Amino acid sequence: MTTSGQFERYAEWWGNPDLQWALAKLGVPERPYWHGEHGIVPTAKRIVALLRGAHRLASQTDGQRKSAVATGSPPASAPPAETRLATPAPNARHSTSIFAVEMLPADNGDCLWIEYGDPSRPRRILIDCGAVSAARTVASRIESLGAPSERVFELFVLTHIDADHINGVLPLFGNPNLNVRFEDIWFNGWHQVGRFLGIKQGEDFSKLLEDPARSLPWNRAVTSKGEKHPAPIALSSDKPPPMFELPGGLRLTLLSPSADQLKRLGREWRQVLLELEPGKAMLGRRRPPPPVTDFAKFDLEALARKSVTKDTSVANGSSIALLAEFDEHAILLTGDAHADMLVKSIEQLQRERGRPGQKLKLEALKLSHHGSANATTIPLLELLDCPRYLVSSNGNIFSHPDREAIARVILHGGHQPTLYFNYRSPLNELWDERVLRDRYGYKAEYPSEGKAGLLVRL
Ligand SMILES: [Zn+2]
Repeated sequence: MTTSGQFERYAEWWGNPDLQWALAKLGVPERPYWHGEHGIVPTAKRIVALLRGAHRLASQTDGQRKSAVATGSPPASAPPAETRLATPAPNARHSTSIFAVEMLPADNGDCLWIEYGDPSRPRRILIDCGAVSAARTVASRIESLGAPSERVFELFVLTHIDADHINGVLPLFGNPNLNVRFEDIWFNGWHQVGRFLGIKQGEDFSKLLEDPARSLPWNRAVTSKGEKHPAPIALSSDKPPPMFELPGGLRLTLLSPSADQLKRLGREWRQVLLELEPGKAMLGRRRPPPPVTDFAKFDLEALARKSVTKDTSVANGSSIALLAEFDEHAILLTGDAHADMLVKSIEQLQRERGRPGQKLKLEALKLSHHGSANATTIPLLELLDCPRYLVSSNGNIFSHPDREAIARVILHGGHQPTLYFNYRSPLNELWDERVLRDRYGYKAEYPSEGKAGLLVRL
């Protein structure tokens, strides 16, 4: 994984007097945990060292790779796997094949383990690794897969750089005993952002645009042989949403981010760093809403109608969102993408597929941004024909999911939708109230008592 340059830059920025000055101006004092033994800056430096180790591993020759794993995969020099099919071709799926997504416990973040194909030898992808504890869960799952030749993922996607998606990445990729291999890693780092910048900004970023480890399987699906840096995973304004087919027949269609959103990430990198600063995140901690005392008066319609404040988070806007399709089943994996971006891309995709104005048929939607109110809008839900809605969050820090988002799903998410939560929390357990389920005709699934994480079979 070639995130070493990225982390190296983080380490520099977090220790940068400019950033500390900006934070002080915002009333955020320098935190002792920035520079201590386990502080952010030293940890980031350790990340760099570990990822450089990973680079050596991933820089093996194709021959070495093939001998290490039984599953087929395109060699590093293969042309990009991107296809631009107007309509997905039917896939020969054995009647017993599986397609399942597991929301692993990732605190207030995302970590999605997805399997598809032959259940005795499923292929897998992993989306985000949102907590250190999630990395431990993933590691033990990987170990249980057996010999190193079985420890293969077709893809790892780091949707964006927020802590609740990236925190487990270091422990996962830094564990030398895991012997795991990812055939490709999708991640928009600063090199991918930088290619959109003008000359002036390019000068500012010139130091950041040097990547000593660019031969890794990074954004391989969009990068042609010989390109200096991995290409960005982003939509083009003049092209339909690109589709990528993974070995075994899983099709991924990109729905976010746009090139403009990546440009913005580049332009506003200082602001984004401030967004990502843990102290500021804690300052932004949101108070949970008061408990519901009278369910007879609990008005879902009013909640659903509440006006939507546009998500202005640049980091969320840069999030990769994917439509994953296997056989006739589809799931929308949104990361923390903005609702209006998803609406635009889905409308465009349906036009491309010759179904303008028709709803996109899904088996499941992973609610964007952990079910925040501004990420789940009525216009988005009304574009979908979907029975299952997945929420990944324990409710910490930002008190997700918001009641407005869940109210919209219940009222605008089709006939008798089912909610799936990967934790039972004081914030989400009200949706298990029988009086609400009976009145509105929806279902709610939670982990069993004392457990966290939820497997959803499609
Ligand atoms: Zn998030």
